[in-house]
Amino acid sequence: MIVTLNNGCTVAEKAAVIRFVEGQGLRVHVGETGEATVVSVIGNYSSALVDGVRTMTGVESVSLDAPVYPLVALQSKPGPSVVKVGDVAFGAEPVVVIAGPCSVESGEQLKRVAHGVAGAGAVMLRGGAFKPRTSPYSFQGLGEEGLEFLAEARAETGLAVVSECVAPDDIETMNRYVDMLQIGARNMQNFRLLSAVGEQPNPVLLKRGMMSTIEELLLAAEYVVAAGNPRVVLCERGIRSFDNATRSTLDLAAVPVLKEKTSLPVIVDPSHAAGRRSLVPSLAAAGIAAGADGLIIEVHDRPEEALSDGAQSLTLDGFSQTMERVELVAGAMGRSLA
Ligand code: PEP
Ligand code: MN
Repeated sequence: MIVTLNNGCTVAEKAAVIRFVEGQGLRVHVGETGEATVVSVIGNYSSALVDGVRTMTGVESVSLDAPVYPLVALQSKPGPSVVKVGDVAFGAEPVVVIAGPCSVESGEQLKRVAHGVAGAGAVMLRGGAFKPRTSPYSFQGLGEEGLEFLAEARAETGLAVVSECVAPDDIETMNRYVDMLQIGARNMQNFRLLSAVGEQPNPVLLKRGMMSTIEELLLAAEYVVAAGNPRVVLCERGIRSFDNATRSTLDLAAVPVLKEKTSLPVIVDPSHAAGRRSLVPSLAAAGIAAGADGLIIEVHDRPEEALSDGAQSLTLDGFSQTMERVELVAGAMGRSLA
């Protein structure tokens, strides 16, 4: 339920509405739209509560067809929300490009890639230290040593770092090294993990599950925000479909759909959608053309030797060329590169 207060609503009237709702054991989220104050009611409300709120002074309207994710819904926070990671701002006019290897493999590998992508215009570095692999026999990541390499690469290049978190127990360790926690597609509905990253201070990059609807993605984001962390960036990375011509089917429509439903920034991962590097430049450009606030792209200096996702990793040259194309499309969209 979303309660819109009228323009002349006094502070006391607003407080009375909030008190009334909270008195029924429900939570509220108060958003200021510039013109009006919007009170989102969180929890299961009774028709008596609705009737009660409707009659209160200061209340303009009560909407019952409000989204089931009130904290991340556009209605409760119209206008863009900007999520800052160090100096990098997701959701502002400039488009943010995150790049780096799928996995951190060694300190040297990571530094080569980090310097290469920084030189080509990436503003954040990615690299997995804890890898969620389909097979238990595949490379599982370097663990904390990988995080140390990420922190070293950050110190050398100035790039902020994002890395995937697969378990609540790793969060404290990870936060000693990284600037943003990624929740991977396979964990988008790991609700304990979502709440755990909601209870810590670093921003969260939340990837869409490969079999998840847009509403489920928004509800996953709601878990993080409801647990106390509003700094969430959403990522469309492709979904499973009948077609196996690509590794996943990049759902580009998800970008404008999400923009209609939430003010959270949205980025696109062309690499995991494509599954092979030849497709990545087109999907990256298309993501920006669809209105994404940024991209996350896998890059390796020797992709043929990569321990994970080499086939979809761009070479450093390929990444530079992709950045030129992305910059052109961003310009056509009235945006710049961060
Ligand atoms: C990754 O970023 O390397 C990754 C595993 O991504 P996803 O969760 O989207 O598959
Ligand atoms: Mn990968």
